[in-house]
Amino acid sequence: MERACLLLMLAVITLASCRDENADGFVMTVKGPLPSAEMGQTLSHEHVLVDWAGADKTGYHRWDRDSVMDIVLPRLDEISSLGVTGFIDCSPAYLGRDPVLLHELSEKSGIHIITNTGYYGAVDNRFIPEHAYHETAEELAARWTDEFENGIGNSRIKPGFIKIGVKEDTLLSDLHTKLLRAAAITHRKTGLVIKSHTGGDAPAFDQINLLMEEGVSPEAFIWTHAQGGSMEKIIEAARTGVWISLDGVNISSVPGEGGNMDFYLTRLTEMKEAGLLDRVLISHDAGWYDAGEPGGGGFRSYTDIHRFLIPAMHEKGFTKDDIDLIMTVNPSRAFEIKKRVNLREQ
Ligand SMILES: [Zn+2]
Repeated sequence: MERACLLLMLAVITLASCRDENADGFVMTVKGPLPSAEMGQTLSHEHVLVDWAGADKTGYHRWDRDSVMDIVLPRLDEISSLGVTGFIDCSPAYLGRDPVLLHELSEKSGIHIITNTGYYGAVDNRFIPEHAYHETAEELAARWTDEFENGIGNSRIKPGFIKIGVKEDTLLSDLHTKLLRAAAITHRKTGLVIKSHTGGDAPAFDQINLLMEEGVSPEAFIWTHAQGGSMEKIIEAARTGVWISLDGVNISSVPGEGGNMDFYLTRLTEMKEAGLLDRVLISHDAGWYDAGEPGGGGFRSYTDIHRFLIPAMHEKGFTKDDIDLIMTVNPSRAFEIKKRVNLREQ
């Protein structure tokens, strides 16, 4: 009897602590904080709007919000009908980020949308504002932290992650090291996850190592465009806790039958065999309304994963739980506002 009581007590304590953990966890959407368990199926790397004009030329004057709404809202309604309820917008500041537009789209589509803070250093620093060259990492982090605490500009809309970008195929430059250090400082203050446009193995591990030196856990880092890395290094990174973002699924608009479906199926299968599906995020890196093109130019839909990849995964033996893990559980954990410090360095 006593033992049964003890077991019951243990069960209650375990349940209570699980519930607390869930109750505490939240993500920051453009409409405010949301319990992470309510994000639902989420596309973790997409774009509503992109402006390639460059940091010195871009601004809200470059697009008409109503025109963007006309093009993008039906695309969000389309994924909503497929069961998607969460959407991570990865267009950074100076490259088409428009929190007010995202808020309107979220209101009208019912989809939870998350925007970002941070600067994007890829493409030869074309989207880096002038002040980033002479400010310190601490000063940049103060700007990004202020956006999280007080909202972006005067919009009162807060970012839900840090988006930076570094050169895809080499070690970090001084400027990109500064961006990453600023991201690390911002993470330690805010708990926002760091999503870095990366690509290959070398810059990925350079960043992971630097973050650890800065006292940030690999669990706070999303290796974005990890499809550009080697399988061996992806697995090594995932084992340290890094999120692996395989975000270029493009099945319907790549020449040749099946687009890059086999590539993604192979990577996902290898991650499953390695027991690492709980570190994987998948997305299309699709969209978008191009501010420099008449009518926004061509638009790639956000539907290939649901229309093609998930059915093919089921055929390959992926279970419903596997799909739920990748599409629902992992994004809610990855984007949860949570300080993830590297205890080994403390
Ligand atoms: Zn992207």
